Amino acid sequence: LDTPLFAGLPGDIAVSFEFFPPKSEKMEAQLWEAITQLAPLEPSFVSVTYGAGGSTRERTHATVSRIVNETALVPAAHLTCVAASKGEIAEIADQYWEAGVRHIVALRGDPPPSDGGRFIPHPDGYAGAADLVAGLRKHHDFEISVAAYPEMHPEASSLEADLDNLKRKLDAGASRAITQFFFANDAYFRFLDKALAAGITAPILPGIMPVTNFDAIRRMSANTEIPGWLEATFEGMDERPGPRALVAAVVAAEQCRRLYAGGVRDFHFYTLNRAEQAYAICQLLGLRPRGAHGTHKETAA
Ligand code: FAD
Repeated sequence: LDTPLFAGLPGDIAVSFEFFPPKSEKMEAQLWEAITQLAPLEPSFVSVTYGAGGSTRERTHATVSRIVNETALVPAAHLTCVAASKGEIAEIADQYWEAGVRHIVALRGDPPPSDGGRFIPHPDGYAGAADLVAGLRKHHDFEISVAAYPEMHPEASSLEADLDNLKRKLDAGASRAITQFFFANDAYFRFLDKALAAGITAPILPGIMPVTNFDAIRRMSANTEIPGWLEATFEGMDERPGPRALVAAVVAAEQCRRLYAGGVRDFHFYTLNRAEQAYAICQLLGLRPRGAHGTHKETAA
């Protein structure tokens, strides 16, 4: 009990941050404030999501382009198969390539509510993410990341079938997977074991979601177990966003500390366009901004 929980963590980790494209000038300012605060942690990449049904096509492109033009960060553009033909996707991919983007997060996407919750491929489109990865590969030499589900995708017939699908995506040319958020680390570790047994050797980055709004998390957690202790931890905090954010940072930092203790060194943060929690967790894991220890080339010189 005398040893501080986070004592001595050397910060030998790599991090990446996910953002969503802003809808208004105010949200744009908030996004850029977050990017500016997190950039000194030198993430391996920063990804920008693609709205359901391709609804943010232009905004995703604009955000990714601004990252290319105004920062030294490596952007990864999310791209989905929903409501787009192969030709339209090729066009989007060409535009990214020309803009200097070299990393795509390739996804099937969720079906629009009008399709009754079932994914119906565009008649000239891709059937799913594995198909999309193969299609992107034909056009450009993108680095490609795909999604993984430690607690199984809700539409999968079994965890084994879902792992087969993940393997297909990697075999088609993706080089890394990023997981859906989870709170039960055991599920993630079991998933890594099963993936390895299925011959998957690519990195599977845990997606870390600090809880900013517990109700929203519950709504989004189709298959994600919400442990009783988590529910109890956030009890009565719905109307207290300030303290709730502090509690959320502690809970997510402790989750990451346990993942670190289990050997994880790569972390992907769902930032929801806010820097504070992701930054605080990185700090507790020992990560420091460039030059803070005087070890970076620029400061050492
Ligand atoms: P796929 O890998 O194609 O799989 C979908 C389902 O079909 C799975 O159940 C799979 O097992 C099953 N399946 C696939 N092929 C077969 C087959 N041949 N036979 C049987 N079953 C099969 N959504 C967005 O709209 N925009 C985003 O920016 C976005 N970013 C995300 C980022 C991450 C890290 C994650 C984890 C998810 C993201 N999503 C995003 C959500 C994602 O689009 C949904 O979860 C979607 O329902 C599935 O996408 P996928 O790429 O995993 O699909």
